[in-house]
Amino acid sequence: MKAESGGYNVPFLDLSRQTAELGGELERAVAAVLRDGRFVLGEPVERFEREFAAHCGGAHAVGVASGTDALAIALQAVGVGPGDEVVTAANTCVPTVAAIESAGAVPVLVDVVQETFTLDPAALEAAVGARTRAIVPVHLYGQCAEMAPIVGFARERGLKVVEDAAQGHGSEYAGRRAGTLGDAAAFSFYPTKNLGAGGDGGAVVTNDADVAARARRLRSFGEGAGRVAVERGRNSRLDALQATLLSVKLARLDVWNTRRRALARRYLDALSGSGLELPAEAAGRRHVYHLFVVRTPSRDALRATLGERGIETMIHYPRPVHLHPAYVSLARELPVSERLSDEILSLPLYPQLSDGEADAVCEAVVEAAVPA
Ligand SMILES: *Cc1c(COP(=O)(O)O)cnc(C)c1O
Repeated sequence: MKAESGGYNVPFLDLSRQTAELGGELERAVAAVLRDGRFVLGEPVERFEREFAAHCGGAHAVGVASGTDALAIALQAVGVGPGDEVVTAANTCVPTVAAIESAGAVPVLVDVVQETFTLDPAALEAAVGARTRAIVPVHLYGQCAEMAPIVGFARERGLKVVEDAAQGHGSEYAGRRAGTLGDAAAFSFYPTKNLGAGGDGGAVVTNDADVAARARRLRSFGEGAGRVAVERGRNSRLDALQATLLSVKLARLDVWNTRRRALARRYLDALSGSGLELPAEAAGRRHVYHLFVVRTPSRDALRATLGERGIETMIHYPRPVHLHPAYVSLARELPVSERLSDEILSLPLYPQLSDGEADAVCEAVVEAAVPA
């Protein structure tokens, strides 16, 4: 929105608007859990697990403490363990790789397709060896990775596929939703995600009853019937307060994703002549625009100009995993991921962003992005 100085005031994300939109529903749901007095797992978690599995079109959902844990537990539940290698995309956030290591495995990074930012199926051959056990495609920014060739390759080699769907709630590939495209999937309910809790939370989704049962054990010390630990697990349970908030918000997820897509359309139309590379929805995929990421070689200058004018932007992510000091040992030839991290810029996009704010962002971007 235009402020009197001629600048704008558009924050990257304002989650208080989501709470306001829900008009007391969240408070009432929390009060019910407080009155009930049972706080970890229990009926609210079971209810949310049923609802979320149904939303994905999957058979089972297992609520856990975070998206990172969901990925680690999903990997373990499909059989990944110490000594195994797990292939994933280099341009993801650190949690993807931390989860692979938390499952006891060694991450192997591969490059991505420039246009979609997602794992390049053609890069798999060179990354896979005798110890490879699984592939983790990341549905980055809200668009599914190119799953058909990835799953086809995995089936040929006897590898498991675990989706990192932390940014993909409701996204689709060939008419099927994220969460049902591999052997198991990991979702995050970190507050900023398309479906976010009031704190940390996550879920493993799978169509495989054995994988679901194992994920249930792994989230609670490996304990099965009679609280007998049949394998070593961890403490990673979803709590009832988060589950009840998530049930309230899940009922809005489709409307919110539709709104995200409408805002993306608005951006795509208004910025088509701006000289920026705009995000593309690949054929057969339904992008849910967790993030709206543009590209330009003059990214830093554009970001600075927008910042001066009161438009907040972010970078997801400032560097690929192998360029973090903690992960230099994972370095390989990853030129696309390295170039992208210098050019990407995330513009504000969330369901409660107004059309006026989106137009202000476009106006400022067009003014700032005068071609060099
Ligand atoms: C958010 C995120 C995670 C981690 O989820 P947490 O709930 O924060 O642990 C993992 N992978 C991707 C791609 C994410 O965006």
